[in-house]
Amino acid sequence: MASHIVGYPRMGPKRELKFALESFWHKESSAEDLEKVAAGLRASIWKQMADAGIKHIPSNTFSYYDQVLDTTAMLGAVPPRYGWSGGEIGFDVYFSMARGNASVPAMEMTKWFDTNYHYIVPELGPEVKFSYASHKAVEEFKEAKALGVDTVPVLVGPVSYLLLSKPAKGVKKSFSLLSLIDKILPVYKEVVAELKAAGATWIQFDEPTLVLDLDAHQLEAFTHAYSALESSLAGLHVVIETYFADIPVAAYKTLTSLKGVAGYGFDLVRGTQTLDLIKGGFPSGKYLFAGVVDGRNIWANDLAASLSTLKALEGIVGKDKIVVSTSCSLLHTAVDLVNETKLDKEIKSWLAFAAQKIVEVNALAKALSGHKDEEFFSANGAAQASRKSSPTVTNEAVQKAAAPLKISEHRRATNVSARLDAQQKKLNLPSLPTTTIGSFPQTLELRRVRHAYRAKKVSEEEYMKAIKEEINKVVKLQEELDIDVLVHGEPERNDMVEYFAEQLSGFAFTVNGWVQSYGCHCVKPPIIYGDVSRPKPMTVFWSSIAQSFTKRPMKGMLTGPVTILNRSFVRNDQPRSETCYQIALAIKDEVKDLEEAGITVIQIDEAALREGLPLRKSDQAFYLNWAVHSFRITNCGVHDTTQIHTHICYSHFKDIIHSIIDMDADVITIENSRSDIKLLSVFRDGVKYGAGIGPGVYDIHSPRIPSTEEIADRINKMLAVLESNILWVNPECGLKRCKYSEVRPALSNMVAAAKLLRTQL
Ligand code: GLN
Ligand code: ZN
Repeated sequence: MASHIVGYPRMGPKRELKFALESFWHKESSAEDLEKVAAGLRASIWKQMADAGIKHIPSNTFSYYDQVLDTTAMLGAVPPRYGWSGGEIGFDVYFSMARGNASVPAMEMTKWFDTNYHYIVPELGPEVKFSYASHKAVEEFKEAKALGVDTVPVLVGPVSYLLLSKPAKGVKKSFSLLSLIDKILPVYKEVVAELKAAGATWIQFDEPTLVLDLDAHQLEAFTHAYSALESSLAGLHVVIETYFADIPVAAYKTLTSLKGVAGYGFDLVRGTQTLDLIKGGFPSGKYLFAGVVDGRNIWANDLAASLSTLKALEGIVGKDKIVVSTSCSLLHTAVDLVNETKLDKEIKSWLAFAAQKIVEVNALAKALSGHKDEEFFSANGAAQASRKSSPTVTNEAVQKAAAPLKISEHRRATNVSARLDAQQKKLNLPSLPTTTIGSFPQTLELRRVRHAYRAKKVSEEEYMKAIKEEINKVVKLQEELDIDVLVHGEPERNDMVEYFAEQLSGFAFTVNGWVQSYGCHCVKPPIIYGDVSRPKPMTVFWSSIAQSFTKRPMKGMLTGPVTILNRSFVRNDQPRSETCYQIALAIKDEVKDLEEAGITVIQIDEAALREGLPLRKSDQAFYLNWAVHSFRITNCGVHDTTQIHTHICYSHFKDIIHSIIDMDADVITIENSRSDIKLLSVFRDGVKYGAGIGPGVYDIHSPRIPSTEEIADRINKMLAVLESNILWVNPECGLKRCKYSEVRPALSNMVAAAKLLRTQL
C-alpha cells in the first residue's frame, strides 16, 4: 500500500535555513556554508520520510527562497534588469530577483493562493527567451539517490506557472500569458529527459490552479500542455497534484482526461465535494493520491475517520491504485512537535506537525493494507476522544452567548452620517483630520525591555515604567507634530494578534511552531484550541494611561476578530465562523470597557480581512458575510458619539468594497499610497457610503521622506474623487518597522500638507 507526501517545510525544525540565509546575506558566511546547511536539512528530511516508510518521497520541494522563483530560474525567465547573461543561475542572480540588490528592486511577491506563504511573481512577455538555466530539480533528485532515497521530483506545472505569472512592464494589454506555453514546454521536456536519465520513475507536477474558477480556454491549456509533453513523459509515472479547495467539475473532467498521466492528487480536507466527484466516476487504471492528512493545520488526524474514507475510495479506484497522501504540501504547517517542550501535555496530544503527519500518512497506508498498528490507532483514538470531551475546550457560557448571534444583524442604531455629526460635536476636529494607524517605531531598547520582562529579567515595575515613558514620549511627539487624533504607539505589543491571543482563553502557543511566510520570514501562529473568552480587560490599562497624558482624543487600539482568526491555527472541530463569533464577543467586551473608561475613538484593525477570502467565488459571499458580521458584533453597541475606526492593509479592495462598507465603521483607513487614486471613487460612486475614509497618503515601506508638496498633491488628487468632509489624512499603515529619523519628518510634512489644504477648502 502506497504513501506519499506532497511537499515538506524547508526551514528546518529550528529555522536553521533562515539563520543560514541571513548569515550568508550579511556576508558572515560563505555560499558553501549555506549549501552545507541546506544539504543537511534535505538529507534529514528524506531520511525521516524513508525511515517512516513513505513510498513516494518528494524532492525539489526544498527551496532557498521560493518554488515559483526556482521555476523561473529553471526556465531562464530572468527579467533583463538583473543583468543575467546566460549560464547556470547562481545565488547572485537568484537572490537579486528575490530580494533586489543595491541598484534594482526585487520582483513582486504575492500570496500563494489563500495561504500565508508568498511567492515571487514571474514577469513574462512575448520577448522572453526561455532556456534551461537551473538544474536544481535534477541535482536534488541525484542527491537523494546518492543517499539511497528514491524520490519523486516535484515541478510547478507549466500551466499553473503561467497562470500565476503577470505580464512584464510595457507588455501590451492584449498579450496572453498562456500563449507562452509552447515556449516553456521545451525546457520542461529537457528537465524531464534528464530526470529520466537519472533514474526517476515518478514525477509530480503541481497544478493547484485547477481548483480556481478557470474558464474553458484556461482548462484547454492543460489538455494542450500535457498532450504536448506526452511523448517526453513516456516511461515515467506522472502525478498531477491539486490542492487547497474542491476541484470544480469541469476541471475534474479536464484533469482526469489528460494524456500520459498516471495519477491525480486531491485535497480531501478542504475538498469535501471532491469526494463525491470521485465517487461519481474515476478513470480506471489510474492512481488516486488521496490527501486526507491536513497540510494546513496542526491537528492530529482523526485516523479512524480517514481510514473509513480511504476504504470507501479504495472500493472505487481499486486496492493497488490508492495512495495515502497529505492534502497539500506540509510547507503550510509547523515542522516538528518534538521541539515543543512548553505545551500543555493534553493539548500536545491533540497535535501533529509535519514530522508527525508523515507518520500518520504511513500508518494509514499500512492500516489500509491490513497491517494496522493497533497501538498507534488506539492512542490516536484516545487523543481524539480527550479533545472532544476536554473541559479546557468547552466553555458553556461562551457557547450559549455565541449561539444566538447568527440570527441578528448587529448594526448600530443610527446611520453613519448622523453618527459622524454627533461625534464631531464631541471631538471638534478640523477638516482633513490627521492621525496615524497605531504603532510607532519599535526601537531596539523597547524590544529589549519587552524581551527581558518576558524572560523575567526585569521587574514588572521597571517594565511598566519603561512602557509608560515610551507612551508619554510618543504622545508628546504627536502633540508637537500637532496631530489631531493620537495613538499610544503600541510599545507593549510584539505582534497585533499574539498580544490579544495571549490574554484570551482558548489559545495555546508554541516555541518553534514556525511557518514560512516569504523567503526567510516565518510566522508563529497561535493555536485556537477551545472556546474563546476574555478573562479580563486587555488594553484598557494602557489606553487610559495614554489618554491621561493628553487632552486630545486618544484612539483605543484593538485587533478585530477576523484578523485574529485568520492569523491563527484554527479549530477544525467547529466552523471557522463560530470561532470568529466567539472572538467577536471577547472584543465586544473590550470595546465596551474602553468606552466606559472614557476612550471616545476606538480603532478595531481588520488588517487580514482579505486573507480568509475563499479561493472560489461561489464561497466568498458566505465568508464575507460572517466575517463582516463578526466585526459589527464588536461595536454595534457603542454610543453614537463613540467613533469606531478600522484599518485594512491592502490596496486591492475593489471587489470586496461592499463588504468593507457593510462593516459600518465610522472611519476606515486603508493602504493606498502605491495604487491608483481613481480606485477610491468606489467609495463615492455607486454606493452611498458617507463614512470617513483615510487612504494612506505616503508609503511607509520606503525610507524616502515625502515632501509637504508631494503629500499635498496626493491629498488634492484624493479630494478630486472624495468629499472633503469625509477625508482623513494618515500614513498607510503602522509605523512599527520605521525609524524615528524617517517618521518625524514624514509626519511633520503630512501635518503641514493637511494644514495647507485646509486653507484652500
Ligand atoms: N495598529 C496596527 C499597527 O499600527 C496595524 C498593523 C497592520 O495594519 N498590520 O501596527
Ligand atoms: Zn496596515
